[in-house]
Amino acid sequence: MGSRWCVGDGASISIWNDKWIPTNGGQKVISPMSQFQENAKVKELLTPSLSWNTNLIEEIFLPFEANLISQIPLRGTHKPDRQVWARTSNGMFSVQSAYQMLVEDLKIKESGTSTTSQRWKVFWKNLWSVKVPQKIKVFMWKACSNILPTCTKLFDRNIVSNFSCSVCGDEAETRDHLFMECPAVTNAWRAFPIYLSTLQPGMRFVDWVEEILAKLSHPETEIFCTTAWFIWRHRNEVWTGTGPREASQISTKATRYAIEFLEATSEVPQIPNESSKKWIPPQNPNAVKVNVASVWFKNQRKIGIGMAVRNSQGNLLAASSEKVTSEEDFLGQSAQAVLHTLKLLISIGFFVVEIECNNSYLISLINSGEDLFSETGWILEDIKELLPAFSSISFNCTPKVCNSAALALASFSKENEVQSVWLEDCPSFLFPIVSSELV
Ligand SMILES: [Zn+2]
Repeated sequence: MGSRWCVGDGASISIWNDKWIPTNGGQKVISPMSQFQENAKVKELLTPSLSWNTNLIEEIFLPFEANLISQIPLRGTHKPDRQVWARTSNGMFSVQSAYQMLVEDLKIKESGTSTTSQRWKVFWKNLWSVKVPQKIKVFMWKACSNILPTCTKLFDRNIVSNFSCSVCGDEAETRDHLFMECPAVTNAWRAFPIYLSTLQPGMRFVDWVEEILAKLSHPETEIFCTTAWFIWRHRNEVWTGTGPREASQISTKATRYAIEFLEATSEVPQIPNESSKKWIPPQNPNAVKVNVASVWFKNQRKIGIGMAVRNSQGNLLAASSEKVTSEEDFLGQSAQAVLHTLKLLISIGFFVVEIECNNSYLISLINSGEDLFSETGWILEDIKELLPAFSSISFNCTPKVCNSAALALASFSKENEVQSVWLEDCPSFLFPIVSSELV
């Protein structure tokens, strides 16, 4: 989208097929093709003295487009047309320069209201800092700039003959319909009351994103953007006929995708740092630190749950390894592991505890007290009901590398059908891990 023709003598630019209109959108002419042929060149819109033939232009183009065209500056000499990406010094496209361009264009659009341009500058900055894969950032940028090729956009450019929503078929497929109103896909948002609570009547998608970016932080912003991307992906699958109409589990898939990306990018680089591998003692010296982990045994359709309880000196007080049936996703599995662990802690008498697990989304859900309207929501309810049994309990997230003892215990259950519990005793396979975490 950044490369555009700069009008010189107009001899090289195709009126209908090239990008030469200075707008944020597609930059191609949107007005329907009329008296000029498909291969007509821009020079046909110029007078012999090389200025715009405004009467002709007003006749051919939609009013807003005629207005845009007649404002394109002309040099008045026979200079050839040039193709430009004016926003980087080397003329190459980059996402950063595209971002700059949008900020600048918005500044121009909002000129006179410096607070508004400041607001958009903050908006784009926030959006680019969301930790999602580049393809999702670019998707969000397109969605917020309203340049996604939705059916209404394609219809306006004579590319398709039907502008109905690809997914529900009921309404015109605009961006805001697809991401905020379409009943067939927006079910995905229902799993996230935290997002719905920021939604106000009359908001455009871009306004909603602004609210989310301003009010929420990691990992909610990442999950939001990833969910929107999954909705768009689903729409594309339906549109191209490669996927079913029913959108299933978008929220779960998106959450897993976002969290896995966050974990992969924010935690893996910490591995070389030896100190970050260390187990951290409980903040309250009278509490015990309880590490919890789950491991998925795909072929058995079961998960292994591991628990390691240590005091502030790092001595292992209790450990457990068990295997339970699970049909849940990563979030659900982690929640199951925490629920089982809480029950076990109550039964063996630990009531001042600091729980640590390596699923940051689960921890944020428990700590925020948000409801989750999915299968996992029921597990979260059960967890909440157990909390009053503890005199003091807190939940924290730890990177996977700091959770090795619990992960090893979870993996140990793979070949064992019965639950193993060790009290004031350390199973031999765990000893080297516990000692290495203390170093
Ligand atoms: Zn729809």
